[in-house]
Amino acid sequence: MAALFVVTYGVIALSYSRQRAAAWFMVSYLLGFFTPICHLLVLYTDQVALFSILGYGVFLGGILTMATGVQAFVGHRPQWRLTLLLWVAGLALRLAIADGPRNTWPYELMFQLPFAIASFVVMLTARQIGQGGPIRAMLIGIFGVIGAHFLLKPWLVLTLGSGPTPKSYLNTVYAAISQISTGVLLVAAGLCLMLLVIQKALEETILDAETDPLTRLTNRRGLYRAGPRMLMEAAMRGEGLHALVLDLDHFKAINDRHGHATGDTVLVAFAQVLQALTAPDMLTVRMGGEEFAILIPDADTHGPDNRGTQLGDAIRDALKPFARQGIPELTVSGGIVRYQAGETLDGLIARADLLAYRAKRAGRDRILQDTSNLAPEPGWGEMRRLAAG
Ligand code: GH3
Ligand code: MG
Ligand code: MG
Repeated sequence: MAALFVVTYGVIALSYSRQRAAAWFMVSYLLGFFTPICHLLVLYTDQVALFSILGYGVFLGGILTMATGVQAFVGHRPQWRLTLLLWVAGLALRLAIADGPRNTWPYELMFQLPFAIASFVVMLTARQIGQGGPIRAMLIGIFGVIGAHFLLKPWLVLTLGSGPTPKSYLNTVYAAISQISTGVLLVAAGLCLMLLVIQKALEETILDAETDPLTRLTNRRGLYRAGPRMLMEAAMRGEGLHALVLDLDHFKAINDRHGHATGDTVLVAFAQVLQALTAPDMLTVRMGGEEFAILIPDADTHGPDNRGTQLGDAIRDALKPFARQGIPELTVSGGIVRYQAGETLDGLIARADLLAYRAKRAGRDRILQDTSNLAPEPGWGEMRRLAAG
């Protein structure tokens, strides 16, 4: 099972280079894979002390590496010193009790204590995971149980006995129960961690697919996922929403005159202007080429002076210093429309597009506004307010 996890995490780490946690989990299960091999070497060679300590060290290292993996997942730097300290302290304790009396409370408790502490460290680290919902809760629960099960083992040893010598351990009933319980729990942990890593990798893949690689703005695909939700939320709250569509003027001429690379620079500079001027509740989209759209929730202002027109003015002002900054001079044409109840996203954008087209025909360098529906419409929230009297 450990070897299967090594392969699976390895494949994930290779396929999603940003998932550094997967590489740590691979190392963790690789260490876990060597633990039973050490047990067998204890049984079949004369190097009992060496392989006992080695098996102990790799297993403890395996659990502590899981904590490092979870730290990487959370985005924290690995806490090397603490991890190394716990590992060295665990090994020192194991060496200190090497000749101690097996099958006694102090010996067995001290034997299991480092494993329990390492498991609780993973549990505490997993609490820092910001997302994941039920998977995060499951992970915290599993590592809590793993830590507790190590603390239960001394009691199990005293009840069943772990054999008089390390060599006789593997033939005891205790060994079977101990190995199976730990194995099952670590398989559960491995699956849970994998679910977490895959979920994050998928989220990153979706974000990539919805991001324009040149400007880093949301692309049309992203608009079609987030846009309808924004329209619905605005309608539910009885608030307004404006769509601002922008098309750069004579952009082809910039390409022709200064080259395609400069055209790209202008697009990136324009996107930076949009990012700097838009608020976090707005959605800024590169529709394609030199066309952009911005969805602007508008709680209060319904009149001709609204967040959409203010933003449009600010964007046009921000283009003026372009020439001074060594970027080709640029103007923009656009249209602003207010969302009408029942309208689709496509319908809303098409209306703003039409206005942008009219702005072009009227001489460019302007943003037109559709003022036909600027009176507040009674949406859900407003109707509720009216009903409440
Ligand atoms: P108008 O004022 O009527 O909008 O004229 P325009 O030249 O801006 O519009 P037109 O649609 O004729 O040309 C748009 C140009 O944008 C053509 C295309 O080569 C260029 N373009 C589209 N995408 C990119 C891009 O990613 N990088 C660069 N450099 N140019 C692009
Ligand atoms: Mg265009
Ligand atoms: Mg254009």
